[in-house]
Amino acid sequence: MNPIFFMPTKVICEKDAIKTQGHLIKNLGDTALIVTGRHSSRANGSLENLTTVLKTNNIKYFIFDEVEENPSTETINKIKKLHIDNGINVVIGVGGGSPMDASKAASVLLANTGMDAKDLFTTDEFKSLPVVAIPTTAGTGSETTQYSILTDHEIENKLAIKTKLFPTLAYLDASFLMNTPKEITINTAIDALSHLIEGYLSTQGNIFSNALAESGLKLFKECIPFLEDETIIFEVREKLLAASSIAGMVIAQSGTSLPHGMGYPLTYHHNAPHGMANGLLLKEYLKSYANHESERIENILKLLEFSNIDELGTFIKRLSTITLNISQNELKAYAEYMISNKAKLKNHPFKITFEELLSIYEKSLI
Ligand code: NAP
Ligand code: FE
Repeated sequence: MNPIFFMPTKVICEKDAIKTQGHLIKNLGDTALIVTGRHSSRANGSLENLTTVLKTNNIKYFIFDEVEENPSTETINKIKKLHIDNGINVVIGVGGGSPMDASKAASVLLANTGMDAKDLFTTDEFKSLPVVAIPTTAGTGSETTQYSILTDHEIENKLAIKTKLFPTLAYLDASFLMNTPKEITINTAIDALSHLIEGYLSTQGNIFSNALAESGLKLFKECIPFLEDETIIFEVREKLLAASSIAGMVIAQSGTSLPHGMGYPLTYHHNAPHGMANGLLLKEYLKSYANHESERIENILKLLEFSNIDELGTFIKRLSTITLNISQNELKAYAEYMISNKAKLKNHPFKITFEELLSIYEKSLI
């Protein structure tokens, strides 16, 4: 069991959090780089909210608004190139996991300007600028994790950078999520659910992360009846956002497990949204786990109020709108990649074979 619990981010969770507590950014720097996606932060008001507070506090700012879903190393290099000479001393990620992860990676490159984004995968001996995270999806929990996941087109997959970087500040305001389309709400919520489940079952969890995972699962359960609604009230959005940040705190200790490792190629090669890529694998992963140990699985099902693993699987399948056409040979290649990658298997407490991994893929996707 992992003896350490560490999560140093100051999390501010309330409506208008940036307005009331935005002055705290001033303690981190006087020249900010805002890292965000192409559209949503303008549409949901988060960007305007932030820039207003930066102006009030005399913090100069630049905006990079080209972060794509599953950000690539090329994008991180582009951020560095554009902003290397702007005297940036704090980086603010606004959006879903993609802009938040990009802000973390960019904060390392802007503090080590001789580096290329690819170097982020090989060594963790880098300083970074402070990062502020403003999540506008309730899913990744990147605001409370030290991870930044980038797409590496050379290896045709996604990888975590080696530097462990928690945001210094995170502002959680569910107002920015009020108009999130149903599909994004669902796909991201399933990411949070995967984090809670994988974290709870990981070899690296501990008494603290398990307690958080249990409370996160209870919160998630309360949101289930509303996930498919076109309009979701603020209180439920806030619960989902809290569950997602709690899930981040869990995986910050425990890491993720098989579904995340196995889901990345589905996203890279088949455009499966990150959360649902994991979600579709959860049922068979849980069944495989339950062949060895069932008490923890029973706890999860009880907290979510499902009577068995199949019921949980049916729930996720019903929420999914994606169709994946994946051949047997492709699944074999993904299972090969997993089995040869010890780091991706280390959080799973039981020995797993190539055949078992392939079977999880096949039963889930074919
Ligand atoms: P995302 O890729 O950040 O965003 C998905 C889509 O949602 C984008 O089109 C985005 O628009 C839109 N969007 C964001 N907020 C919205 C809002 N409030 N209303 C309407 N649309 C909104 O999705 P994500 O699932 O949050 O993040 C996925 C990434 O996070 C993956 O790269 C994954 O690997 C990573 N991840 C990281 C961690 C971690 O611990 N660091 C954990 C899990 C996953 P714009 O393009 O305009 O922004
Ligand atoms: Fe995830």
